[in-house]
Amino acid sequence: MPPDISLLKPLLTPATTFTIPSKETFTEDFNNWTDYALITPLAVIKPSDEADVQTVVKFALEHDLRVAVRSGGHSVFSSCDGVVLDMRGWDDVYFDEGDGESIWFRPGALNGKVVDVAGGRGRCVVSGACNSVGLTSLYCGGGLGPLVPKLGMAIDSLISARLVTASGELLTLSADSNPEIFHMLAGAGQTLGVVTHMQIKTYPLNQTVNSSDGTVFFASFTFPPTKAAEVADLLNTAKWDENTAVYMLVMAEGETHTPQFVFSANYFGSDEDAKRALAKLYALKPITKRSERVPYTRMNHHNDGFGKCRGFKRMIGTGLKQVSAEGLKGMVEALENLIAEGAGDLNRSCVIFELLGMDTARRSSVGVYPHRDIDIWCIPTPWYTRPESHASAEKFGRGVRKLMKSEDMSEDMRVFTAFRAGDEKPEEIWGSQETAGKVAEMKASIVAEFNVNVITE
Ligand SMILES: Cc1cc2nc3c(=O)[nH]c(=O)nc-3n(C[C@H](O)[C@H](O)[C@H](O)COP(=O)(O)OP(=O)(O)OC[C@H]3O[C@@H](n4cnc5c(N)ncnc54)[C@H](O)[C@@H]3O)c2cc1C
Repeated sequence: MPPDISLLKPLLTPATTFTIPSKETFTEDFNNWTDYALITPLAVIKPSDEADVQTVVKFALEHDLRVAVRSGGHSVFSSCDGVVLDMRGWDDVYFDEGDGESIWFRPGALNGKVVDVAGGRGRCVVSGACNSVGLTSLYCGGGLGPLVPKLGMAIDSLISARLVTASGELLTLSADSNPEIFHMLAGAGQTLGVVTHMQIKTYPLNQTVNSSDGTVFFASFTFPPTKAAEVADLLNTAKWDENTAVYMLVMAEGETHTPQFVFSANYFGSDEDAKRALAKLYALKPITKRSERVPYTRMNHHNDGFGKCRGFKRMIGTGLKQVSAEGLKGMVEALENLIAEGAGDLNRSCVIFELLGMDTARRSSVGVYPHRDIDIWCIPTPWYTRPESHASAEKFGRGVRKLMKSEDMSEDMRVFTAFRAGDEKPEEIWGSQETAGKVAEMKASIVAEFNVNVITE
């Protein structure tokens, strides 16, 4: 028998919202990036302070309930059958008054808001490429984004955090305070408890993006499926410099639903230097190409459509060392088959490639993120609205991942927590059994009784 959840409400401060949802109200109000695997909880609590987070976690521990944390709602891991801590609204972002340069933010703060606040003061941050993702969770996982080639991973810019552990204790984490837990937080943060505050470094904007007006060069290029071999060669041989951030989508939107390779690139420097850095893309004779200069704070806006909430979407990603022409051809065929099977429902499905140079990131050893050797992330992402399409979506995602991996130099499955499906083996996520063991050990050591899952995996 579940406990009487209404007993929790009087323990909370009045500013904190407590709701007992029905399936319909929960799904509507939750407004997640994906409705896949949503579980209706006993209660949704929107906390407004750390004491309430502690109260909820302790209540859950006492009553043997799971707790799931929802910040930006861009994963399939933020609902459960116990209590959902919904951080939306608790989204303050501000500069540190002492040093005037680092930024603090609460877990409800989205990527775009932190970029805006930093840019507003002539500073920039290591962020993700999608404005609607929760920045706290992104930093917990490691964090990839356009400035990573230049500044390293997001966790390399993490200064401190506050964490309510799964046993309800509030800890300050930094290189000097609870350093071992801080080290785990940077890469395995979602497994430790509820992060309530983060402090990160910012960088001088114009100097970092190499422009006098804080703008960034943005370009996109489209290639037909017949160029699979040339595209594979480009992915394997192009050495982008630290000012270049490249992404590629294999997608079939448009009237004919023919799969195409769509590249988008940010360059931090002048238009002339950008064209030199991206020369290989221009030389491949794209069927469409465009470029513009955009303010740093609008750098991610072309991805807003992808960040939209609702519908069923899944990320079933893997890290690669190389991409074969056969693999890309097979992927195009799989996408064509998926679209044909979906009878209109699966047309927005795609495969995302993140092609961010990791040379700078490889110089750091902050945190437990284990995949700094990987420069190519391949993320099959089925997208649909009808539950009948679940099976085709699953087959596509798993099939493409397996195909790309079988064509890779090493067959070890490599999975970044941020792009995982949810059923991967710990050593696939943590790179080795040794790190997987350390993460599990750390988690166990700070969770008083391991029957409360404030994780959410
Ligand atoms: C459209 C899209 C674009 C993306 N782009 C990028 C990108 O550019 N770079 C990148 O690195 N990743 C990217 N990701 C992956 C993303 O960083 C992860 O999925 C991230 O965990 C999402 O965070 P969220 O807060 O939005 O989601 P949520 O579903 O709210 O949370 C994700 C996970 O973190 C846990 N969590 C949430 N809040 C807290 C908290 N306060 N304390 C502890 N745990 C918490 C949740 O329980 C869940 O397990 C993208 C994902 C999507 C769907």
